[in-house]
Parts: sequence; C-alpha cells; structure tokens
Amino acid sequence: MISKTTTRLIAVCVTALLVVSISVSQKIKVYLSVDMEGITGVVHTDQTTVAGGDYGMARRWMTEDVNAAILGAIDAGATEIVVNDSHGDMRNIIAGDLHPAASLISGSPKPMGMMEGIDASFDAVLFIGYHAKAGSADATLDHTISSATVYSIKINGIEMPELGINALVAGYFNVPVVMVSGDKAVCGQAKEILGDKVLTAQVKEAIGRVAAKHMPFESARTLIRQQAKSAIEKRKDAKVYKLSGPYVFELSYLRTSQADNAVSVPGVKRVGARSIQMESGDYIAGYKFLRAMISLGRDN
Ligand SMILES: [Zn+2]
Repeated sequence: MISKTTTRLIAVCVTALLVVSISVSQKIKVYLSVDMEGITGVVHTDQTTVAGGDYGMARRWMTEDVNAAILGAIDAGATEIVVNDSHGDMRNIIAGDLHPAASLISGSPKPMGMMEGIDASFDAVLFIGYHAKAGSADATLDHTISSATVYSIKINGIEMPELGINALVAGYFNVPVVMVSGDKAVCGQAKEILGDKVLTAQVKEAIGRVAAKHMPFESARTLIRQQAKSAIEKRKDAKVYKLSGPYVFELSYLRTSQADNAVSVPGVKRVGARSIQMESGDYIAGYKFLRAMISLGRDN
C-alpha cells in the first residue's frame, strides 16, 4: 500500500520531470541577418556609409531596430539568438549596445557574407533592415548586393532581391525565414518570394529612392518586436524556401567592362553583353561563386 505522502512525492517528481522535459524540448535558436537600408529613419548613403556625416546616428537606429527584434525573440521564448551584421563592412551595429541576450557576428570578409553563422541547428531566421532589389520603384536605396556592380541577379530565371538569395541559404539548412523588416517595397517582395506566411514589419514607405515617410520610431520598434514574437511563435507554419537544383545563377553587371573582367574564370559563361551565367548542383557552392563574381566584377 502506498501512503498519501508517497503518492504526493511521486506526483511532484513526475511534474518536475515534465517541466524539465518541456523546457529541454523548447530550445529555440533564432538567427538575425541585419542590413541597414531598411532601418527606421534611413533614406540616404550619408547614413549608410562609414564616411557619411549621419552614419553614427544611423548605426544607433540600426542597433535599436535589432534590439526590438531580439526582445520579440525573447518574448517568443528564444533560448539562443545570433545576430549577423550584414551591411557594408559589417561593423555597423554598436556591439556594446546590443541586447545582452544575443551574440554578434561582425566584420568582413566572411565566407557566407550576409548569412555567416547559419546552420541546421536554427529554428527561425529574421531579416531586419532589408531593402528591395535593384530596379524597384519607391524603394529606399534599392540595390542587389552591390550598387556599384549589379544590375540584376536571377536564380533559375527568378529575379531575386537579397532576401530571396539569402532565404535560399537558410532553406539549404531547412530553416524558414519567418519575418522581414524594412520599407513597403521590401515587405511586398518578401511576400512575393517567400509567400503569405512570412510576417513583415513595414517601418517606412519610400518616396522615390532617397526619401521616405517613417513610422514614429517607438511605434516602429514596437511593431518589429510584435512581429518578431509572433513570427517565431508561428515558425512551424512558415515555409522553408527552396528551389530545385541544378541552380543557374545569372548575374547582369552594370557595365560591359565588368563582364569582361569575369569571363576568364572557368565555369563562367557570357550570356549577354553585360551578363554572365554560372551553374551549380549545390546551392551554397553557387552562392559563394556568385559572391566571388560580384567582387571580381568591381572595376572602379
Ligand atoms: Zn546594405
């Protein structure tokens, strides 16, 4: 016969075990790739380049937008948060002011660029401060990877913004992109490429390329925090973005001279006056090839 005390003791132990197993199974790893053109308040290269007079101010805004997303991730129960600084020389986020729950990857070059540090252990990816692809109207500082080099990038015939190129990197590791923040144009492109399930935080509406109407800063950060929280909570519904291989990368440079630089590389085929094509059975190998050819094309 079991005494009442023993029964209670067993009940307490079972409950404790359940709590422990639930907390173990709820390990949530979140990855944030953070660009600058889609940050609240940013409209001009004076704010996004190190030599720009307003750069110091924009770095603070960038850090605050990221911190809002980190708070959202914490609200959703994230147990590990990794932030990858993905803009320019990748040393923009003010490291000492980043929320202490997150670790920061900064500096460049790094082999995986805007997606450095991603792997299959993550549960969700968020793109903060992203921008629309080159050639988008009413889009803050629209470009694709390099405004000095790239006219357009197509993968398997689909013209891609950075968010698509990078979502395929996450998809390679079976991790969904669950949220994108930036202007109205990039939020629209996120839905177009990643589908309806991706959540967006539209923090501004561009008026041409270098002007925008911004949300009040506090409201923008509240929105980023809320969307990050619900996107991570709903991560199981999110679609992992994949295309089927082999992957054909078509890179159109701004100038024919940039394609002249590129064609001597083995595996590169010229498909137009300023366009080259590479093919890869492995997406990550193709992604690195693409990044290398963008660097090589730089002629100024
Ligand atoms: Zn950028």
